[in-house]
Amino acid sequence: MTGIRAGRGQSARPPDEVASARSTDLAGPSAAAGPAWDYAPAPESREIASIAAEYGLFIGGEFGPAADGRQFPTINPATEQPLARVALAGVADTDRAVAAARHAYEQVWAPMPGAERAKYLYRIARILQERAREFAVLESLDNGKPIKESRDVDVPLAAAHFFYHAGWADKLEYAGLGGASGAGGADGAGRGTAPRPLGVAGQVIPWNFPLLMAAWKLAPALATGNTCVLKPAETTPLTALLLAEVCQQADLPPGVVNVLTGAGETGSALVSHPGVNKIAFTGSTEVGKEISRAVAGTGKRLTLELGGKAANVVFDDAPVDQAVEGIVNGIFFNQGHVCCAGSRLLVQESVADIVVERLKERLATLRLGDPLDKNTDIGAINSREQLDKISALSAAGEAEGAQRWSPPCRLPERGYWFPPTLFTGVSQSYRIAREEIFGPVLSVLTFRTPEEAVTKANNTPYGLSAGVWTEKGSRILWMAQRLRAGVVWANTYNRFDPASPFGGYRESGFGREGGRHGLAAYLDA
Ligand code: NAD
Repeated sequence: MTGIRAGRGQSARPPDEVASARSTDLAGPSAAAGPAWDYAPAPESREIASIAAEYGLFIGGEFGPAADGRQFPTINPATEQPLARVALAGVADTDRAVAAARHAYEQVWAPMPGAERAKYLYRIARILQERAREFAVLESLDNGKPIKESRDVDVPLAAAHFFYHAGWADKLEYAGLGGASGAGGADGAGRGTAPRPLGVAGQVIPWNFPLLMAAWKLAPALATGNTCVLKPAETTPLTALLLAEVCQQADLPPGVVNVLTGAGETGSALVSHPGVNKIAFTGSTEVGKEISRAVAGTGKRLTLELGGKAANVVFDDAPVDQAVEGIVNGIFFNQGHVCCAGSRLLVQESVADIVVERLKERLATLRLGDPLDKNTDIGAINSREQLDKISALSAAGEAEGAQRWSPPCRLPERGYWFPPTLFTGVSQSYRIAREEIFGPVLSVLTFRTPEEAVTKANNTPYGLSAGVWTEKGSRILWMAQRLRAGVVWANTYNRFDPASPFGGYRESGFGREGGRHGLAAYLDA
């Protein structure tokens, strides 16, 4: 097979993509003598995603410019090439979007029977499936994530969220949430009193799963009869805007979904708008705290999905190869830009050496480079700012005394890249063990007893997720009872399902997304 290490290989892609973002296999210890075979280029064509030069705001079912005409660029992080210019929403646009959402809520959406609302959600889900390749390519271009992840995870899960919530739209009185009075009594058929929607939901999302986070926010809000004003992240607005186009295609009544593009200032205008009844935020703990302060005392309902510093705990009886796959998935999936990433590996001392050795061997086989290549495992870091943050925290890890290791690898010349990185000899007090890095960087710590594992795992202000690897079912249950995390995965990691509630506590936020619990966040019940 033809090798595609940086500097070689053929591709039909545009020159800017080829020059700077070719996949590179990471030659590690096991590959020191050269790989036995190599990969041929397998680029997904970008032709299917037609990107306009400019994008407007989506308000009242129409796309249009910002009132003051401001715009900002969105770029391809794998090449640093601009993709498009996008409208920057200000206060006047926020007023207009909230008014459109209010009108749609009162006149159309809340009065509509649940079974009718469901039809729109099913339609959106089906269109997402029909246009899946287009969404996957656009997501990889705007975000930098590997196409195999946008194609196999982000887009199918986004469609699944709409399908799942469509099923709830006409069954809300069976969700066990009680009625507006809080009585909550169920009749003989398991039916409680019908819970009421809250009104207009202001929803602010991050850049790591741009389409999927939009689906997590919109689907439950719409199923429960609320209308939405969505604010995507400034570095990844394109798939939310394509989703707005899908809403048009599905004939969703104007104003039910509105999309305001912009940065923190736009998000802040939406959060503090008096016409909004509910704020749903996913993003950093720092901004989450700011939003909490802005919303306090206003009577607005609030859910916060914030950061994490999850422990992935490997016991000595765990099947090592399986655990290594779980560790890799836990921290290197989506370049580690995952709130629930298993960024702290806690491994039992007696197997630490073998686990770290196998991990290094496995990391040497990962392929970093062109996000549109179907063989790529590690894509680009989403922005210069995020790359700087990852670099600074990694430098702090070295300065504090941890041993840093990455497989030898040549990074593409342009774009934002960071090699998969492993720190051993990490102490709990180091910044890399305490702060969210939100990048492909794993800190390895050891423990001797289950009690010590629990103490170390819980030694964080966050509480979003955790992983446990052991053959013993009883130990899984023992650990799950003690780990202070919203989600605990056993012998797997990063599994998501729309029926399963997701969320954290402490500095990881509050409220749940998905499942019956996620519905409660949008209902007066
Ligand atoms: P961020 O907090 O900087 O930005 C998130 C969103 O908030 C963006 O749309 C941004 O424009 C907007 N924003 C910024 N300042 C604002 C303000 N003052 N008022 C209102 N909106 C504002 O976070 P990020 O860097 O985009 O995302 C990474 C963070 O998100 C990580 O900490 C990660 O853990 C977290 N995250 C959490 C979950 C979860 O479910 N818990 C999921 C994904 C990401």
